[in-house]
Amino acid sequence: MMEIQKDMDAEGTHILARQKTKEREIVLDYDYKKCAGCSICVALCPKKALQEGPLQEIAKGLDAPPVLIDLDACAFCGMCVNFCPMKAFKMTVRERQAQEAAEAAGPSEGQA
Ligand code: SF4
Ligand code: SF4
Repeated sequence: MMEIQKDMDAEGTHILARQKTKEREIVLDYDYKKCAGCSICVALCPKKALQEGPLQEIAKGLDAPPVLIDLDACAFCGMCVNFCPMKAFKMTVRERQAQEAAEAAGPSEGQA
């Protein structure tokens, strides 16, 4: 069975959603400062993983992301990356080395 790990954190104005498998790590990087809040991505996400943030408050000056990501729902398909007119989403894929994959599998392997 293929194991999939997901996590999410924030770095400055970037929300970083990660999906890791034994073979690769995919990072979906959403820079909310580039986001115009047009909601195209919200409408087209096939997993309904995106929803609008507090757009009215943001329009009045609140510093918050216009789009919220549901990490559990996201399939890392990249559609939001391809269709965002502001290029607010970026996706990187990194193949993991065999050694790294073995470490990620954890010490439980081989234990009785
Ligand atoms: S498509 Fe791009 S600019 Fe529009 S709401 Fe989504 S991330 Fe923001
Ligand atoms: S990567 Fe795909 S599933 Fe995830 S938020 Fe973007 S469009 Fe939705």
